[in-house]
Amino acid sequence: MVSPKPVNAPTAPIRHEALRIAGRKVAGERSFEVRYPYTGEVVATVPLATVEQVREALRIAKNYRSKLTRHDRYRILMRAGELIAARRDEIARLITLESGLCLKDTLYEVGRASDVLLFAANQALVDDGQVFSCDLTPHGKSRKVYTLREPLLGAISAITPFNHPLNQVIHKVAPAVATNNRIIVKPSEKTPLAAYVLADVLYEAGLPPEMLSVVTGDPKEIADELLTSPDVDLVTFTGGVAVGKHIAARAVYKRQVLELGGNDPLIVMEDADVEEAAALAASGSYKNSGQRCTAVKRMLVHERVADRFVERLVQKTKAVKYGDPLDPATDMGTVIDEAAAREFEARVDEAIAQGARLLAGHVLRGALYAPTVIDRVSPEMRVVKTETFGPVSPVIRFADIDEAIRIANSTAYGLSSAVCTNRLDYVTRFVQELHVGTVNVREVPGYRLELTPFGGIKDSGLGYKEGVLEAMKSFTNTKTYSIPF
Ligand code: NAD
Repeated sequence: MVSPKPVNAPTAPIRHEALRIAGRKVAGERSFEVRYPYTGEVVATVPLATVEQVREALRIAKNYRSKLTRHDRYRILMRAGELIAARRDEIARLITLESGLCLKDTLYEVGRASDVLLFAANQALVDDGQVFSCDLTPHGKSRKVYTLREPLLGAISAITPFNHPLNQVIHKVAPAVATNNRIIVKPSEKTPLAAYVLADVLYEAGLPPEMLSVVTGDPKEIADELLTSPDVDLVTFTGGVAVGKHIAARAVYKRQVLELGGNDPLIVMEDADVEEAAALAASGSYKNSGQRCTAVKRMLVHERVADRFVERLVQKTKAVKYGDPLDPATDMGTVIDEAAAREFEARVDEAIAQGARLLAGHVLRGALYAPTVIDRVSPEMRVVKTETFGPVSPVIRFADIDEAIRIANSTAYGLSSAVCTNRLDYVTRFVQELHVGTVNVREVPGYRLELTPFGGIKDSGLGYKEGVLEAMKSFTNTKTYSIPF
């Protein structure tokens, strides 16, 4: 079901952004435009930072030493959460304008951000030091070794993708604040506005401005400085595999946290509750316009239940109200731009030409691409072999669990997965044999707490995790000290 034309065209005046260099607003001499993907209207102008401006932000960050106590950090993060919650509607609308994601998705996005801040605030209060007695062996003595975690000496560079404009940024900034680090964020040039809002919120909440800068610009011009500057100790990146591997090669002798693309399967066994599986499939495939690293990108369905599953999936797909992102009733807005929508169209056309059957959707209007179901897909088709980062539901049929596991593991990715079954023997095999970072039983692959470890293996990442707790670990150095006691 598509809404016919924009009922809520953006009426707000164009926003003119400035860089945030350690809290200072710096208007760039050059700027670029951010357009609302649904109508193409310009909604903001954003500065193109120069390499010198990036260097200045890094220099300030490197030289600053935060004196914030655990309680100070707790207070700032909690306050920021309150400020974001109070501005929920306004921030959601802004993210809708920069991304084309519908309000339902962006309101959820803002709610998640408050969760991240809540967890980070509480973790700031937890002392994670350890104590080791030294009289444990015949060679020991009466002494104790203690550990403590310290912030990095240099700055953290954070580079984020377009698909969750606030959450990808906050998952890096909140743990950095909680651990007394200093961080420079370069958000995606496609969705740069939420990062500026977050910076202002944190400054207002009392964050020393030296601890956070936001720079926007052309990655070809400024990204290299964020990867190679001697002032940077750690690069935390979320985005696609190609850029991630480029960063891995460029950021030499720096700690790297790389969270890359996914190609997550939802596996439906013959004993599954088919209605539940189809509901998980549809929400996992179409939420956030299918643009989640952990979206359901392949549906592997046992041939005995495949017909029933497909019938329900098609029903649910046709019931998705897609169209005007600013209409509060819309379930799915646009994808990030028309080029992305055309790419999905081309991949689906190719699959159809190779024998897949189109059952729903596949209608394109600008950056709007209808929720699309294709059945009888084979694992070699490009639409499932590589990451299709949009609202496409390809169904692959299989005969038994060995085949399901083989197909699930057959791509270059290893982020997350979902399995629909009640059989413990199946669950055990999936948990043991899927080459992924997460296995969710009877849930979408994207299910997580903002606190829990999150991240993939193979081309989806180096296994170094995100999630508030893991990020706080990777953003700190462990120091040991021992005393005669
Ligand atoms: P992208 O890789 O195109 O861009 C990500 C960021 O990298 C942007 O800020 C961009 O400006 C920057 N960049 C571009 N060229 C660069 C360079 N040469 N050096 C340094 N930085 C550079 O990704 P995208 O299209 O914005 O996001 C979609 C991708 O992100 C998908 O593959 C998705 O699966 C992935 N993703 C992964 C996770 C995860 O946690 N694993 C989460 C969300 C998204």
